[in-house]
Amino acid sequence: MDMDLFVTPRKRLVELLREKGIKDERVLKAIETVPRHLFVSEALQAYAYDDSALPIGYGQTISQPYTVAFMLEKLNVEPGHKVLDVGTGSGYQAALLAELGADVYSIERIYPLYEEAKERLAKLGYHNVKVFYRDGWIGLPEFAPYDRIVVAAAASHPPEKLLEQLKTGGIMIIPIGDEYFQKLVRILKVDENKYEKQDLGPFVFVPLKKGKE
Ligand code: SAH
Repeated sequence: MDMDLFVTPRKRLVELLREKGIKDERVLKAIETVPRHLFVSEALQAYAYDDSALPIGYGQTISQPYTVAFMLEKLNVEPGHKVLDVGTGSGYQAALLAELGADVYSIERIYPLYEEAKERLAKLGYHNVKVFYRDGWIGLPEFAPYDRIVVAAAASHPPEKLLEQLKTGGIMIIPIGDEYFQKLVRILKVDENKYEKQDLGPFVFVPLKKGKE
């Protein structure tokens, strides 16, 4: 017997994302699989399958499902890819990356969020996600280079260290802008000195802050 009361709401969310234009079946399958209600506080579980961002404490949010699905669709993750996930937050996006078959290195600058996400992902059995307490402006050089880098917080410009840690032929998705206006950008690293940038349109993100807390 299936004890997960959220199976139907999760399926409905997937249908909604389809209607909003998400086509990648692997991404949709991952969203149908990951229990988003376990990535928010109990008080917010009833809203976990609405297509909206929700507070996770410390002034941060779990991103809107549409935004996450859109980013993952544009990231083209293949099984076995090494992926750097900047801004662990709740760990939800890291879990989706794991469902896509990636080896996930996820970094977070707020210590309690880092600890909570690490514990939550371990409890849910996401052993191919490693969580680190690090600053996204510095990245995680010890495991570089990465096939893919995805940043869940907005920066004024792509951090140089992250560009360095991206594999040649690798893709980074990052929101770029100020606190009022941001656009999502897809960066393809052609070689050490050549990057191709594609504007994916306006989105709203929390800021990529400097240093750790
Ligand atoms: N991917 C997350 C979204 C969290 S919102 C999820 O699925 O829940 C963005 C997160 O980025 C926040 O937790 C915030 O603390 C974190 N963040 C902001 N600046 C950062 C930085 N410089 N380094 C690492 N994490 C950062």
